[in-house]
Amino acid sequence: MTDITAESRSIGRNPVAPGAGRTVASAVPQSLVRRLARGITATGGAEPAVTRAPLTGEVLAELPQSTTEDVKVAFELARRAQQAWAALPVRRRAAVLLRFHDLLLKRQDEVLDLIQAETGKARLHAFTEVLATTMAARHYGRAAVGYLRDRRRGGAVPVLTKAVEARRPKGVIGQISPWNYPLELSVGDALPAFAAGNAVVNKPDTQTALTALWARELLIEAGLPADLWQIVVGEGPVVGPAVVEHADYVAFTGSTATGREVAQRAAGRLVGASLELGGKNAMLVLADADLEKAAEGAVRACFDSAGQLCIAVERLFVHRSVADAFLARFAERTRALRLGGGLAYGADMGSLVSARQLETVSRHVEEAVKAGATVLAGGQARPELGPLFYEPTILDGVTPEMAVCAEETFGPVVSVYRFDTEEEAVERANATSYGLNSSLWTKDTRRGRAIAARLRTGTVNVNEGYAAAYGSVASPMGGMGESGLGRRHGAEGILRYTEGQTIATQRLLPIAPSLGLSDEKFAAVFTTSLRALKALRIK
Ligand code: NAD
Repeated sequence: MTDITAESRSIGRNPVAPGAGRTVASAVPQSLVRRLARGITATGGAEPAVTRAPLTGEVLAELPQSTTEDVKVAFELARRAQQAWAALPVRRRAAVLLRFHDLLLKRQDEVLDLIQAETGKARLHAFTEVLATTMAARHYGRAAVGYLRDRRRGGAVPVLTKAVEARRPKGVIGQISPWNYPLELSVGDALPAFAAGNAVVNKPDTQTALTALWARELLIEAGLPADLWQIVVGEGPVVGPAVVEHADYVAFTGSTATGREVAQRAAGRLVGASLELGGKNAMLVLADADLEKAAEGAVRACFDSAGQLCIAVERLFVHRSVADAFLARFAERTRALRLGGGLAYGADMGSLVSARQLETVSRHVEEAVKAGATVLAGGQARPELGPLFYEPTILDGVTPEMAVCAEETFGPVVSVYRFDTEEEAVERANATSYGLNSSLWTKDTRRGRAIAARLRTGTVNVNEGYAAAYGSVASPMGGMGESGLGRRHGAEGILRYTEGQTIATQRLLPIAPSLGLSDEKFAAVFTTSLRALKALRIK
C-alpha cells in the first residue's frame, strides 16, 4: 500500500473543472426568488430566513418563514382542496403526473440551476434528481390505477360473502424533506401521495426551499390544484413538529436522530410514518470482480453529490487478493475527478452544502489521520474553489475507535478494509446499526444475488453502486434497522399513503345460526364446511 500513498501525496490536488461563465446571481435572479417565495404559506409573523449559495457564499434568497399558526392554516387549506381531488378518478389524477413528467424534462435547465445554486452539487448530480423524479412520475402516472383499484377478495363464506378491498387516501400528508436531493425528496415523494388522492403539506429544508417551490409551480402548471400542495418553511425543530401535529400520515426523510423524534410524535398521535434515514453503506469487491468497472463504480458510489447522498458508499471492503490492484485504480480515478462549481456540465464533483457538513467531513478525516489512518487520495478542503469544497477522500487503516469507521460522515470520504472470505465480508458489512444500501461487485452475478440475500440492507446493487436499485422505481426502496421504517417506490411507496378498507357484502344467509339450526347444529355444519374448504384448497 505504501506506493499508492506516496503517489497520492505527490500528485496531491484534484484538477479543477473550467467555470461556466454564469453566476449564481444571474441564474437565480431576485425576481425569480420573490416569485417562488409567494408559494410559501406564511403570513409574515416570523423573521425571514436568509440562505446562501454554497458555491460562493453569496446571499441567495431571503424567504418568509411560517409560524406554527401558518402550518395550521396550510393544513386547513390542503384539507379543503383534498376533498374534491379525492373524488376524481385515479386516472385523472395520474394524468397530472404524466404531464409533470414532460414539463420537467422540457424545463430541466431552470431547476438544474436552482439545485446547483442551493446545494452546490455538480450539474450532472443535479440532473440525477431530474432523472429520478421523472422516473417516479412515469411509474406512478402509469401504474397508480393498478395499485389503487378495488380488488375482489375471498369472502368469509364462499358465494354468500362478497369482499372487496379498497384503498382510500389518508387525507393530508405531512412531508418533511432534507436538503441533499431537494427535487427528488420533495416532489418525487409527493407524487404518489397526490396520485392516491391526498393533499401534501411539505416542509423542505430552508436551504433548498426554492427547488421545492419551483417544482410546486410546475406541478400546478401540469394541472394540480394549487391548494393541494402547501409548502411551509422554517426552523426544523419548530415547524417540523407542527407539521407532524396536524398530519394524517408523515413522510419523513432526514437523519436518524430527527427521524426518531418524528416517529415518537407520530406514535403519540397514532398516525403512521415512513422514515427514510441515514446509512453507513458498504461496497464489497469480490476476488472475481471486474476491477476497472468496480473502480469506476466506486467513484460514483462514494463521490456523487460529494457523498451527500443517503445511499452513498462510505465503507469499502475489498478481497485481499485484489486489494492493491483495485485501490490503485480507484485512487487514480479519484485523484482525476475535476472539482468545480460552474453552472454547467463539466465538473465531476461540486461543493458541500454547509459549514456544518464541512466541519464533520474535516473532523472525521483529521481525527482518523491523527489516530493512524492513511490518506490514499484527497484529504483536504479546497477553499480556493469555494468556501465549502472538500476533496474526494479515500482512507486506509481505519480502526473501530475512529468516528469515520461507524458514524455517517455524509460527505466525500470512504474507508477501505480488506477481507479474506465472503463470510467475513458479509459479517463486517452487516456490523452496523444502519441498513440502507449496499453494493457488491462480482462477475458471477448469480453468486452476487445469493450474497445479496445475506446483506441486511433495504437495497443491494450488484455491479453498480446505488443507481440500479434506486432507479428501479417499481421496487421498494428504504432502510432496515436504524435506516428507517417503510419504503418509497413500488407498491409500498404509494400504498403507504392510503388506508385499506374492506367492504364485505353478505347475502342470503347470515354468518350465524339461522333457518332453525340450533347452535350445536350450526357449529357442526361449519366444522364440516371448514374441513371441506381446506381439502378443496380454497384460500
Ligand atoms: P435532518 O434530520 O437534520 O433534517 C431533515 C429535515 O427535518 C429538515 O427539513 C429539517 O428542517 C427537519 N427537522 C429538523 N428537526 C426537526 C424536528 N425536531 N422535527 C421535525 N423535523 C425536523 O437531516 P439533514 O441533515 O437535513 O439530512 C441529512 C440526513 O438525511 C442524512 O442522515 C441522510 O442519510 C438522510 N437522508 C436519508 C435519505 C433516505 O432516503 N434514507 C435520503 C436523503 C437523506
